[in-house]
Amino acid sequence: KTELKKALNKLKSDTLAKVDWAGIKYEWSEEVEKMLKDVFKISSFRPKQLSAINSTLSRQHTIVVMPTGAGKSLCYQLPALVEPGITIVVSPLVSLMEDQVRSLKNKEINAMLMTSTSPKEETNAALNALKDIKTPIKLLYVTPERLAKSKRFMANLQKCFSNGRLQRIAIDEVHCCSHWGHDFRPDYKYLGILSNMFPGVPLLGLTATATAHVLNDVQKMLNIPGCLIIKSTFNRPNLFYKILEKPTSNDECLNILEKLLKHRYKNESGIIYTNSIKDAEDVTNGLRQKGLKVGCYHANMEAEARSKVHIKWHENYYQAIVATIAFGMGIDKPDVRFVIHHTISKSMENYYQESGRAGRDGLRGECVTLYRMQDIFKVSAMVFSSVGSMDFLYGMVKYCLNGHLCRRELIAKHFDEDWGDSDCNKMCDVCISNSNVTKEINLESHCQTLTSIIDNAAKQDTKLTAQKLLDAWFLKGPVPLRHKGKEPPFSRAFAEDVVAYLLVEGYLTEDFHYTAYSTVVYLKKGPNMEAINDQNFTLKMPIRKYTNFELDRPAPWDNVIVTEKPDTLKRKSDVLKKAKKSKTIIIDD
Ligand code: ADP
Ligand code: MG
Ligand code: ZN
Repeated sequence: KTELKKALNKLKSDTLAKVDWAGIKYEWSEEVEKMLKDVFKISSFRPKQLSAINSTLSRQHTIVVMPTGAGKSLCYQLPALVEPGITIVVSPLVSLMEDQVRSLKNKEINAMLMTSTSPKEETNAALNALKDIKTPIKLLYVTPERLAKSKRFMANLQKCFSNGRLQRIAIDEVHCCSHWGHDFRPDYKYLGILSNMFPGVPLLGLTATATAHVLNDVQKMLNIPGCLIIKSTFNRPNLFYKILEKPTSNDECLNILEKLLKHRYKNESGIIYTNSIKDAEDVTNGLRQKGLKVGCYHANMEAEARSKVHIKWHENYYQAIVATIAFGMGIDKPDVRFVIHHTISKSMENYYQESGRAGRDGLRGECVTLYRMQDIFKVSAMVFSSVGSMDFLYGMVKYCLNGHLCRRELIAKHFDEDWGDSDCNKMCDVCISNSNVTKEINLESHCQTLTSIIDNAAKQDTKLTAQKLLDAWFLKGPVPLRHKGKEPPFSRAFAEDVVAYLLVEGYLTEDFHYTAYSTVVYLKKGPNMEAINDQNFTLKMPIRKYTNFELDRPAPWDNVIVTEKPDTLKRKSDVLKKAKKSKTIIIDD
């Protein structure tokens, strides 16, 4: 029965999705266009924004899925001005709400927020606005616990509804409803009552999380099964994706960054992401010693110092900002030409968001990730205690280990997007390498060897870190731990790939131990390792291709790619040629 229900809901969603929601022949279309230009001062919609606006104005329950930074807020802010009444916006973070209310007020839009820490007068004013049929308030931002726990708020909201003034309820970061998301918030579960309590009032959920699993769950939690789902593409055709081998020594690593900043990205602006405050400071200092102008940014800095760094980067005094992921909110520099990950992100979701800050102007941007096995443990030691975090991290590692599939295809898959035969246009390191041949290596005997090393260590009451395991495999380190057979027929760097591969495929697993100062990560046999005793056990690992990437020559900016319409590519030279004739370039993000 549940299967049938699911299928019916899917059919309903799919049927709704077939409607062309992007039309301009609705009764509100003229008003929508006018608001866009006059109030928001925006010249055109980004992909799917108009569809989302039309569907919610048609009173259709809708979930909007767009990447971060794509412009989800407009999908409820604009409709709020087109119709009489109040739009409620549920948002999980007070700081996000404050930002939005501030920016709305700058546009002379009447908006308020109400949180558990709001002063009494503000709370009263907001509650009165709900009852008052003459209130000028158009948008009221609330935290989910308001809806859950404040009887007074709910009573006033009901009054608003019975006065016919409850226009719609927008739920930002709607994936927080789902246990399967990366960001579950218990208070979001109370939102399930809204659809029954306020029949006819459209719900509009917004998120950057696109997996079918989460979206299904969200529909269930909100009691809007089979609602319309509007998804914009996650593909960023103007971004070039590259994995770079990260050297083991800090100095060598700095040398790479130096070359990139002095040559490949000479006179270009970018971001270098690190995974700890210490790394951010060390890299900043190291690069400054090499004469580069970079600023450091992390959460331990005073707000004032942070905003100073931000401004200097914005004005291109700093070529790059070296930052922890605390640097993210409110970055709207359009000409970010490179985002370098000094350490892998903790998930593909994070990676996509962080790297996506490049190339917002539609011109070519480069997303370079420095990867080496050891960093997996650096990140896992930080995140392992939260639910699901290891799967998220391993998703990122799989992306780094990948050497045979287009990186865009992997990203599309991650976001449950149908990639089909879409073209990458050689905008990733895998596609740029000409050979289509994927070499594979059989890992059966190596699994046997690693098992014997781990078992042997266990007999001696010893746990092995990844480095110790590799030492033993390469006949190095303490003699009793060493493998008794031959050295592996490949380099240590390749062996690291093998270990990482076995880890993300469940043949090895991490074992975390606390010490007074840090968390030590050991490796032990994973659940899949049992399979090595089966007679027909086979395990093949695709071998990564290493592609040419010139650190000390300018990036091929002359091949710069401009996205004119979403999903179409142009060479910059063609656009500029055309521009010379017409004098204007319209770049659609
Ligand atoms: P999201 O919530 O999807 O992460 P936001 O709604 O915060 O994104 O929007 C990100 C930025 O994009 C904002 O600065 C917003 O003003 C801008 N923006 C939104 N829509 C458009 C548009 N159609 N054209 C230009 N800028 C836009
Ligand atoms: Mg948002
Ligand atoms: Zn590709």
